[in-house]
Amino acid sequence: MRYVSTRGAAPELSFGDVLLTGLAPDGGLYLPAEWPQLDLAAIAALDSYTDVARAVMGPFVADSIDEVAFGDLVDAAYSTFEADDVVELVDLGGGLSLLELFHGPTLAFKDIALQLVGHLFDHELRTRSERITIVGATSGDTGSAAIEACRDREAIDIFILHPHGRVSEVQRRQMTTVGSSNVHNIAIEGTFDDCQDLVKAMFGDVPFRDEVRLGAVNSINWARVMAQTVYYVVAAQRLTGLAAPVSFTVPTGNFGNVFAGWSARAMGLPVEQFCVASNSNDILDRFFATGEMEIRSVVPTASPSMDIQVSSNLERLLFEMAGRDGQAIADAMQTFRDTGVLTIDDDRRAWLSETWTSQRVDDDGAGGVMETIDRVHRETGVVLDPHTAVGVAAASRRVNGSHTPMVCLATAHPAKFPDAVEKGMGVRPELPARVGDLFEREERFDVMANDLNAVEALVRGRIL
Ligand SMILES: *Cc1c(COP(=O)(O)O)cnc(C)c1O
Repeated sequence: MRYVSTRGAAPELSFGDVLLTGLAPDGGLYLPAEWPQLDLAAIAALDSYTDVARAVMGPFVADSIDEVAFGDLVDAAYSTFEADDVVELVDLGGGLSLLELFHGPTLAFKDIALQLVGHLFDHELRTRSERITIVGATSGDTGSAAIEACRDREAIDIFILHPHGRVSEVQRRQMTTVGSSNVHNIAIEGTFDDCQDLVKAMFGDVPFRDEVRLGAVNSINWARVMAQTVYYVVAAQRLTGLAAPVSFTVPTGNFGNVFAGWSARAMGLPVEQFCVASNSNDILDRFFATGEMEIRSVVPTASPSMDIQVSSNLERLLFEMAGRDGQAIADAMQTFRDTGVLTIDDDRRAWLSETWTSQRVDDDGAGGVMETIDRVHRETGVVLDPHTAVGVAAASRRVNGSHTPMVCLATAHPAKFPDAVEKGMGVRPELPARVGDLFEREERFDVMANDLNAVEALVRGRIL
């Protein structure tokens, strides 16, 4: 399997190169040169998440990793999950099910992709006898998932910068109580933007970047999307035995999760519709409704991991919509950067509306996030986190009258966002037992000034 860039001007790469490269040199995102087709009858007969994972992802990695080694990486990645079989499908009634993706080590769906990506990185680097230094900035949520993915991996050191005193105690402790010697937390005296600027400056410092072999595990990496295609197949298998179509509603930020669902459909999974659920940051909802994408400023909501304006993975769908014309995408993205607006014509809007719908869900008011948390808890006993509540509220508006089962993706455990959940239903959710000793474990982090030279010196010193 070869990989092509959405902007059409980068060389084709193997899976191993795509994994380590991330963004293509022409600024595009990598996609497989063609979509392998699922053997639905064979997959329907499989009986574990990891068996389905091997079958679905096998063709994507086949040229870079041998089958047995890949199977071992998959098993290792998903051994850290608490659920009986990695994910849980919960019936909410009325044709709506919840696919719980938060049973991994940091209580959010990002673990499903990152746990595997950590092992894939380590495998690829050891094969090449190379090491890598991962650096990243976090406002709280992604840092812990990246740390859990990279901890104890031989070929990786990971440095995560967070704004000192500005992340919640649970979020900080999820990062700083990991005792592994290859994990380094730096609390920067500044804001999240200062942390992000430091990371960008490190990547921009070419001698430093090459010296420490800097790398990233960001959400545009194809391997993350690939790992997420699996649970769409698993959900449909458990719900219908892959014999009838299913629809999905996805609480969406950067568009990686829902694009993985579309990829599964491109591989032959019977899916009727995808509903993109946005919070008040509704650029995607406006795009699907009008065919025009226009940037506005970000407003903070109870679902912070979806407080995003430009969803980078949307470029992958635009590339498919344009019949894989990379030059057209390069031109469109340039116009978007210059003017802040991207418009598509009626034919393309018609193409999108065959498969895509969208909803915007605000925190407050009728049918909003807070009311949905309260209603679902009263009606079913199920406690939703605010991101999942955006999805369930959106899905509830759509299930009426449709005979196709609807699956809403549950992206975080409610205990990760206790304040919002308490505000919604009046009760504070408890941390699951497996992370219950979080408040007793010893913390380890360095507090540093917002000073590039000092941070680079610390990174150099630690990886020696
Ligand atoms: C990252 C995240 C999202 C958004 O997922 P995308 O792939 O960026 O669309 C939604 N919910 C939670 C809890 C997240 O952490």
